[in-house]
Amino acid sequence: MRHKIIAGNWKMHKNAEQTEDLLNDLIDKLPPDVQVEIIVAPTFVNLASAVDHLEFTNIDVAAQNMHQAESGAFTGEISAEMLKSIGVNTVILGHSERRAYFHENDALLASKVNSALEHELRVIFCFGEELKDRQAKQHFSIVENQLHDGLFHLDAKDWGNIVLAYEPVWAIGTGETATPEQAQEMHAFIRETIRSKYGSDVAEGVTILYGGSVKPDNAKEIFSKPDVDGGLIGGAALNAADFAAIVSAV
Ligand code: PEP
Repeated sequence: MRHKIIAGNWKMHKNAEQTEDLLNDLIDKLPPDVQVEIIVAPTFVNLASAVDHLEFTNIDVAAQNMHQAESGAFTGEISAEMLKSIGVNTVILGHSERRAYFHENDALLASKVNSALEHELRVIFCFGEELKDRQAKQHFSIVENQLHDGLFHLDAKDWGNIVLAYEPVWAIGTGETATPEQAQEMHAFIRETIRSKYGSDVAEGVTILYGGSVKPDNAKEIFSKPDVDGGLIGGAALNAADFAAIVSAV
């Protein structure tokens, strides 16, 4: 069901000791009793220890990626079943860095989504246009296609395990944020696109996060928009005080 989420994508940062330190810092600094789901996504090698470390807290753990196959000769890869086996229940798929540097396209992502859902992993599905798309005024059609090709093969019932993260590529790690109005405009478009395919129950039930240079000083304004249900946070998730301030801004 639709609710507020703040998720931190740690990318390829923090070794084992640093992961533990940041988790301790988060436990200290995160506000108690918030009405928002808090998720952190450390690297693969630190997932199991993070799950253990956070067992009695209100912080969930997500993976940053997974392979679509059940198992097999895929050197260096991790399956949905393996994530489940260590207590991970959420996976981020389709991050723009996976799309750009590892050539993950919508067809591949659709098969990853299927595998995740088959294993009862919730998916945080990332998508968003590049700067050239926005400059060419094609951002709505790009986003619509990403939704169509990555997710619109799903049944309505599957959407209970899908969280969307709209992340304009030009705003990720650049310090340039979409304005609150740009975020709202796109989130409303995304919800409308889902409504026209699946109807109002699915459209109103889906949580849509914004990602792209969210910081403590711009979070409140972005999160005040009616179709923005929280954020996927990169850089600012690596600092416990900043992440806690962003959680408090929802
Ligand atoms: C991200 O990587 O998903 C992200 C939004 O990064 P940043 O907050 O650093 O722009």
